[in-house]
Amino acid sequence: MNTVKIVRIPILPLHMVNAHLILGPDGAILVDAGIPGSERKIGRALAQEKLTFKDIKLIIITHAHVDHAGSAARLRELTGAPILAHESDAKHYSREEKMTFCPTGRLARLFYKTGFISQHYEGFTPDIVISQNQTFDLQRFGVPGSVTHTPGHTSGSVSVELDSKDAMVGDLLASGILLGGIMRKKHAIRPPFEDDPYEVAQQLLRLISAGNQTFHVGHGAPLGVNEVLRHAEYLERLSVV
Ligand SMILES: [Zn+2]
Ligand SMILES: [Zn+2]
Repeated sequence: MNTVKIVRIPILPLHMVNAHLILGPDGAILVDAGIPGSERKIGRALAQEKLTFKDIKLIIITHAHVDHAGSAARLRELTGAPILAHESDAKHYSREEKMTFCPTGRLARLFYKTGFISQHYEGFTPDIVISQNQTFDLQRFGVPGSVTHTPGHTSGSVSVELDSKDAMVGDLLASGILLGGIMRKKHAIRPPFEDDPYEVAQQLLRLISAGNQTFHVGHGAPLGVNEVLRHAEYLERLSVV
């Protein structure tokens, strides 16, 4: 059986923004590309694993927010790797359509006003586009697992589900305070923006019933399945009210 290693790349300190590397026998897969200008941090993380940009065989972008897609175009140039993303966020990647942001609370509204989340990034057209409910097998990149459509945070959000029962879920949920941070790291929270909490809950419940045990997130430390279940049930109750 192939074994893979997951490396978290701190794009910002205190787990505020993470990208992830999946290291397999045939090279690496990068999951999310950080804010604009993150290529040096990603290059340093590769060097620590004795790898270079050329070892990246695939770039998966979980959704079109700037803190996940910001350096994708530049990293495609540096690595020569194709970008995989979902068609429902495609017009945001190409910068034809502006993102919409549904704040999840008062702090999120203040955060939105800083302009951080709505800053410009270099647009791109993904090379591999997955469509509604489509699953993409990662075995061809030497990694036992797949990319699945998990809408809710944005309509084109995707997750990576590995056979090791690790899931990389982007911003379906987060942990800690606001954006990661130093406290309550094992506590699941809603990210600052979320299009459809009920849909997020359904996707989290599906990921749990698929057997995923550890949830790696774009903001904060990884979460165990019980905490994810608690959060999904909270989101469901929120949507009923
Ligand atoms: Zn997001
Ligand atoms: Zn994010």
